[in-house]
Amino acid sequence: MTRAAGMKKKVTAIKGTKDILPPETRKWQWVEERARTVFERYGYRELRAPVFEATELFEKGTGESSDIVLKEMYTFTDKGGRSLTLRPEYTPSVVRAIIDHRLYLQPRPLRFYYIGPMFRYDKPQKGRYRQFHQMDIEVFDEKDPGIDAEIIQMATVLLKQVGVADYQILVNSVGCPRCRPSYIQKLREAAQKVREKLCPDCQRRIEINPLRLFDCKIETCQALAANFPKITDNLGEECQQHFIQFQHYLQVLGISYRVEPRLVRGLDYYTRTTFEFVTSALGAQDAILGGGRYDEMMKQFGGPDLCGIGLAVGVERLLSLIKFQPSNPEFIYIIYLSEEGKEEAMKLAAELRKEVDCLLEYKPRSLRNQLSRANKLGATWTLIIGEDELKTGRFTLKHMASGHQASYSSAALLEHFKSRGDQ
Ligand code: AMP
Repeated sequence: MTRAAGMKKKVTAIKGTKDILPPETRKWQWVEERARTVFERYGYRELRAPVFEATELFEKGTGESSDIVLKEMYTFTDKGGRSLTLRPEYTPSVVRAIIDHRLYLQPRPLRFYYIGPMFRYDKPQKGRYRQFHQMDIEVFDEKDPGIDAEIIQMATVLLKQVGVADYQILVNSVGCPRCRPSYIQKLREAAQKVREKLCPDCQRRIEINPLRLFDCKIETCQALAANFPKITDNLGEECQQHFIQFQHYLQVLGISYRVEPRLVRGLDYYTRTTFEFVTSALGAQDAILGGGRYDEMMKQFGGPDLCGIGLAVGVERLLSLIKFQPSNPEFIYIIYLSEEGKEEAMKLAAELRKEVDCLLEYKPRSLRNQLSRANKLGATWTLIIGEDELKTGRFTLKHMASGHQASYSSAALLEHFKSRGDQ
């Protein structure tokens, strides 16, 4: 193929990724703003980690038997021969950053949030993308189940703020490395008995990590798993106490929830609390957000023995539940008719933008054309700079919807918008 022919070939967005275009971006900003405000209110501060990390971080953190690590990572070798991975989730990055910067030595609470893209090579479908976005919070060094309940309460506040009410909260405890092995053994034995009826993935899961049996999306496997022993009947004394207290605090905070013993979630690192907010409004991909405790991860990465708990909200899924229609922001469309008028318009726009949005376009257009542009773009006002205006230094501001007009000097115009802003 010649170079010219090659250049003509259409390059499209990668499957499973989406362009987020205006005015849809306003909806994103609106949600992100609300999330930031809620997170900050609860003492979280933003921590921005890189989009790619050493592959090993996720193998160790997310876990080698998780679907994410087994099937879904965007892993590549860079020019220096290092194996890197586009982060499929955020928690391991935060743990690494805390250890790298020894943040645990600070007196500040270890509460962080982050909003940004994650990458998973999963089969794209409605609500499931290969680049998707999460709003994520993590808390460290809080063992008490009070925090488990608090972050769930915080999530309900966020959902209320963005007008989402139709969801259910599922909670569970997956025990800890002390009580889980004996449960896993029981689970393995139960699964062995029905091995032939399970899918090939689940048959492998029996050996590698039987907890993952509960993640299977195949109906026959799910029906069989419903009869497997429940983790909640097999918790050690401390985990059981934690789970009871956690539920007690949820009740103290007036939160309705349901215990779902099959909620092990797709990640290997969870200890004790796991939870998910699900809705029937999303179809197959029904989880709006999810999270849990990971008390061993920091230690496993060679950091101090600090427990952790976090949650991640799927932004695309949240947005699909939100009815908010962004309103068109108010702005002035400035019209000019000559080179001199254009220069005046440029100066005036620079001034007025201290107080109000202004749009000035540079393609030569007739007066009629500019008026029709202003109309089409939904300008709130037009400001015309013609011969007379240049001579007198007074400009006519027209409110498009009402047709109301008034004439101002440039200083008075600025003052007019300033006083509107002060109201
Ligand atoms: P996880 O990190 O798997 O615990 O997921 C947390 C939340 O992120 C889920 O509840 C979803 O809302 C969202 N999420 C996870 N994977 C995807 C994906 N592939 N596409 C869109 N949203 C996702």
